[in-house]
Amino acid sequence: MSYDTIVVGAGFGGLKTARDLAAAGQTVLLLEGGTRIGGRAYSRKSAAAEHLQVEMGGAYLHREHHPRLAAELDRYAVPTTAAAEFTHFRHQLGPTALNRAFPVPGSEAVAVEAAIYTMLKDAHRIDLVKGLENQGLDDLDIPLRDYVDALNLPPVSKQLLLSWAWNMMGQPAHESSALWAMQFIAAHHCSLLGVVLSIDEVFTNGSGELVGAIRRDVPHLKLGTVVTEIDQSTSTTRVTVQNGDTFEAESVVVATPMNTWKKITFSPPLPERRRLVVEEGHGCRGLKLIIHVRGSQPGVACIGDGVLPTLYDYCAVTENERLLVGFTDSSSFDPTDVKAVEDAVHHYLPEADTLGVDYHDWLGDPLFEGPWVSPRVGQFSRVHKELGEPFGRVHFVGSDVSLAFPGYIEGALETAERAVESILSPRRYSSRTGQLVNEPGSAHQTMGV
Ligand SMILES: Cc1cc2nc3c(=O)[nH]c(=O)nc-3n(C[C@H](O)[C@H](O)[C@H](O)COP(=O)(O)OP(=O)(O)OC[C@H]3O[C@@H](n4cnc5c(N)ncnc54)[C@H](O)[C@@H]3O)c2cc1C
Repeated sequence: MSYDTIVVGAGFGGLKTARDLAAAGQTVLLLEGGTRIGGRAYSRKSAAAEHLQVEMGGAYLHREHHPRLAAELDRYAVPTTAAAEFTHFRHQLGPTALNRAFPVPGSEAVAVEAAIYTMLKDAHRIDLVKGLENQGLDDLDIPLRDYVDALNLPPVSKQLLLSWAWNMMGQPAHESSALWAMQFIAAHHCSLLGVVLSIDEVFTNGSGELVGAIRRDVPHLKLGTVVTEIDQSTSTTRVTVQNGDTFEAESVVVATPMNTWKKITFSPPLPERRRLVVEEGHGCRGLKLIIHVRGSQPGVACIGDGVLPTLYDYCAVTENERLLVGFTDSSSFDPTDVKAVEDAVHHYLPEADTLGVDYHDWLGDPLFEGPWVSPRVGQFSRVHKELGEPFGRVHFVGSDVSLAFPGYIEGALETAERAVESILSPRRYSSRTGQLVNEPGSAHQTMGV
C-alpha cells in the first residue's frame, strides 16, 4: 500500500504530524524505531517508589512560553501540577556559601545589571524566523566561556551564570556556543529570567499521559521499525526499514533526533553543507539525574561549583525522603559511580543521604545519540534554518530543528505544525477553475542537487 505520508519517529513532533495529517484526510503511517512512543518525553515508574512517575527527559513547561503544548494539554484534558517550589537556596559559589533566595550579593548587583543588559541586547539581534546562519551573527558564535569572561562579572554572579548555562546547554561553557545561549533567551520572549522560570509546571501523571492521548488519534503506528533509507529518486518516495521491508508514500516526514539522521541513507544525498553538520552532530551531552535522598528539606535549590551545576527538589517520596533533579553532562560525570553521586549531593547538602539514582543514557541510546539540541561552537552560524527545510518530498520535524523553541517539547510541536502546513498546502486549487494547480511531491521543493 502507498500512503500519502510516512512519518518517521513517534516523539511529540512525529505524533502531532501524523495525527494532524490523518485528521486532514491523508493516509498516514507512523514508523517508530523503539518499542515505546514519546521519544525524549519519557515518563516511567520511579525506581524509588512504585507510586511515582518520573521524567527521564522532558518534564517542565510554562504555558506562556509553550502555547502549543498548553493547547494539547487542554485538548485532552491532561492535568498538570505546579513544579516543586524552591524555598531553600544553597549556593556553593566560590568561597562564599549564600543561603538566601536572591543568590547575588548586593555588591555585585550593578555589574549583574550591566551583564544582563548586554545579553538582552545580543538576544534581541536574533530573529526567530530567519535562522541563525542568515543574520550576520558570527561574532556571537564563540565559546560561551569567552563571552561570559568578557562580561567582567564578579565571582558569585559569574559562577551562577556559568552553572545555569552548563545545565541548559548540556555541555560546559568552553564548548557551548554563546549564540545558542542568546537563542535560548530570545525564545523566551527575550527574557533571561524567562529561561530560568520556565520550570513552572509538570505533567501530573507523567508526560506519557499526553503522549498516549495523542497516539489514540493516530490511525497507523508500527513500533520496532527503524528506518534506514529514504529514496526519492523515483516518482514515489520509498522508505526502507532495518529488516528490509519497504513502504511508499508521496511525502516523508523525518521526525527523529538530528544526531540520528547520519544513520539514514538519503537518495539523493542531502546537500553538502547540511550533510556535513548532520555528520558532525550537535554537541549536547546533558545528563539528567533523578536522585533519591533522605534528609533533604522540601524546596531546596542548589546551584554552584559542584560537578552537578544544578541540583533541585523534584518531589516527595515519603515524609523524610525526596527525589532531587541534578544536571551535568555525560563527559564530566559517571552516573554509575555510586560514590561520585553521593559526593555530588554532599557538595551542596552535607546532611542528605543518597539512596539511589535514576537516569536514561540519551547520548548512548542509538535512537537518540544526544539529549536535547545544543550546537558546537561555529556550527549553527554556518547551517541552521537549512537543517529543518524540506528536501524534495522529505520534511524535517522535531525540537532539534525548531527555530522558535528548540530543545523543548514546544519546539517539536511547532515544527510539526510547519510540516503539516507545508505538506497540505501544495494541494492548492485554482480559485478560478477549481483545478488542482500543483501536485504534492512534484517539483515544488528544491533538493539542492
Ligand atoms: C534529559 C532531558 C530533559 C529535558 N527537559 C525538558 C523540559 O523540561 N521541557 C521541555 O519542554 N523539553 C525538555 N527536553 C526536550 C524534549 O524532551 C524534547 O525536545 C522533545 O521531547 C523532542 O521531541 P521530538 O519529537 O523532536 O523528538 P523525540 O522525542 O526524540 O522523538 C524522536 C523519535 O524518533 C525515534 N527514532 C529515532 N531514529 C529512528 C529511526 N531511524 N527510525 C524510526 N524511528 C526512529 C526515536 O525512538 C524517538 O521516539 C528534555 C530532554 C531531555 C533528554
